[in-house]
Amino acid sequence: MLGVEETPADTPADGYLQQLATRLGVADTYHRTPVGVWFGKPGERVADPYFGGEGPDKVGCTHCGSCMVGCRVGAKNTLDRNYLYLAEKRGAEVHPDTQVTDLEPLPGGGWRVTTAKPGAWSRATARSRTLTAERVVLSAGVLGTVKLLLRLRDQGRLPNLSDRLGDVVRTNSEAIVGASGPTVRPELTRGVAITSSIHPDESTHIEPCRYPPGSNAMGLLTTVLVDGGGRVPRQVRFLGAIVRHPVRFLRSLSVHRWSERSMILLVMQSRDNSIALRRHPRLGTLVTRPGHGEPNPTYLPVANDAAREVADLLGGQAWGAWNETLLGAPTTAHILGGCPIGADPEAGVIDAYQRVYGYEGLSVADGSAVSANLGVNPSLTITAMTERAMSLWPNHGEVDPRPPLGAPYERLDRVPPRTPAVPVGAPAALRPA
Ligand SMILES: Cc1cc2nc3c(=O)[nH]c(=O)nc-3n(C[C@H](O)[C@H](O)[C@H](O)COP(=O)(O)OP(=O)(O)OC[C@H]3O[C@@H](n4cnc5c(N)ncnc54)[C@H](O)[C@@H]3O)c2cc1C
Ligand code: SF4
Repeated sequence: MLGVEETPADTPADGYLQQLATRLGVADTYHRTPVGVWFGKPGERVADPYFGGEGPDKVGCTHCGSCMVGCRVGAKNTLDRNYLYLAEKRGAEVHPDTQVTDLEPLPGGGWRVTTAKPGAWSRATARSRTLTAERVVLSAGVLGTVKLLLRLRDQGRLPNLSDRLGDVVRTNSEAIVGASGPTVRPELTRGVAITSSIHPDESTHIEPCRYPPGSNAMGLLTTVLVDGGGRVPRQVRFLGAIVRHPVRFLRSLSVHRWSERSMILLVMQSRDNSIALRRHPRLGTLVTRPGHGEPNPTYLPVANDAAREVADLLGGQAWGAWNETLLGAPTTAHILGGCPIGADPEAGVIDAYQRVYGYEGLSVADGSAVSANLGVNPSLTITAMTERAMSLWPNHGEVDPRPPLGAPYERLDRVPPRTPAVPVGAPAALRPA
């Protein structure tokens, strides 16, 4: 469904990553990234290559580096070009710009779902509506699903939700560091957002990420790199670095052509650390506290070492994130968990079929069901878990093979869909086995 292929060629940034791998003694771990992009011939439009003509046209990736700010040509396999597109073609109704604000179980079964226009300033402009549904699948991501469920539980609207709601939230044990050189190198922006990987040790994974020319705002999040740990607070070290190298610090404030001078290193780990999400009792905002496992790292030595090596390769300066340096709060693009799967409501929020304990007809299918630090970008895992959970649902009107909610887990065969998921015209490699 996501049309995953390995990136077809090494980019200049991959060359630097290979040199970094050699310096770290792990040259043999270098590999190209599998990504959900149609490569084909750059810029060439082809009739739907994936879904036997039922899907939209594709245009071959132009390697412009814009994936994270939006693919302009239609090469990136986003959900609106596969799942949502196909669902809509088969009769599903998509309600864009619609935020779920309330869920209420109905006495005879089913749900009342209240929605509003997201970001509305007043009730008058919120265009509040209610819909009814036999079943509801929450797919609002960790910060949507967990936030909504925590509010509904804490307000007593869904009181049966498990006490484990908001537990085992993972940051992918992540750090975002990098280096910027004095010279503009437009070639650093060539390629899809992430093109390759190295593994400096058994739990650490580093990827070079990129933004296109003109997308420099990310540079505002960065500042001179200082290490954490030890007796001297990191903030004090940061001040020391500014006093010792004021010109270097002032230069770091400039984001002029930042994306063409910089290499971003996304560092992820599969270590067992986590945070917990809770709702602030008065403000109603999400707050975090330490969670299960090791304390969440606020500084990854291996990440800082890698950034310094890349700075040396670019003849520039290594950087880290302001929030990590000043607040000890790491950045993550990969927040996961909060609705852990468990054998019962004491152990988890959802069962192994991703149904919410305590409420018939309510499921979760998004990153909040992933309760591990994957050490890798999570979209494919979220998709695979969702595919699995949905493959065990009955077709409409047929008997549900899953045991009743709360009964012990049973291993089941997938339910063949009444209409084939992928039409016969799709390339053999893309058809489900
Ligand atoms: C900058 C960036 C780059 C990334 N790059 C990669 C990458 O290269 N590879 C990779 O595998 N992963 C990547 N990720 C991570 C990946 O995007 C997420 O892990 C993944 O999208 C999470 O999927 P999800 O279904 O849990 O939630 P989301 O994809 O976040 O989807 C949740 C949706 O629900 C909507 N929503 C929220 N609340 C409500 C509500 N109350 N009512 C209705 N709708 C609601 C949101 O607007 C959103 O559209 C990246 C993330 C970021 C931020
Ligand atoms: S690099 Fe990314 S944004 Fe650019 S064409 Fe390829 S998929 Fe689209």
